[in-house]
Amino acid sequence: MDFNGFGFKVVNMAPNILYRYYGIEFSDYSAIDIAPDVHTMRVFQRLGLTPFVTDQEIARIYTICKARELNPEFPGIADGLRWEVGKYSCNPSKPKCGDCPFSSFCERKIV
Ligand code: SF4
Repeated sequence: MDFNGFGFKVVNMAPNILYRYYGIEFSDYSAIDIAPDVHTMRVFQRLGLTPFVTDQEIARIYTICKARELNPEFPGIADGLRWEVGKYSCNPSKPKCGDCPFSSFCERKIV
């Protein structure tokens, strides 16, 4: 966060990507948060993990707090899968719930 021009999303996305795709290990994962964007926030909301709110900053905070609650040892571990589901399955208007790995427990599943 001390680097000029980097916000919360990028500073958490970078170590998540280094860990997931390049196998870089860290001494402490508890400070690596989820990188909340429109995809991850939408999936958290549709799964019923966070409330639907119109204010995007509040939605980000809910998403970060829920990810920390779900996995305090490594809150960011949920980032990749939720982003991929949000990007490729959980479209804003026409979600492809049949292809979604969360469909068995999703509160907003469309059948
Ligand atoms: S089951 Fe459907 S609505 Fe629920 S997260 Fe998956 S794609 Fe989105």
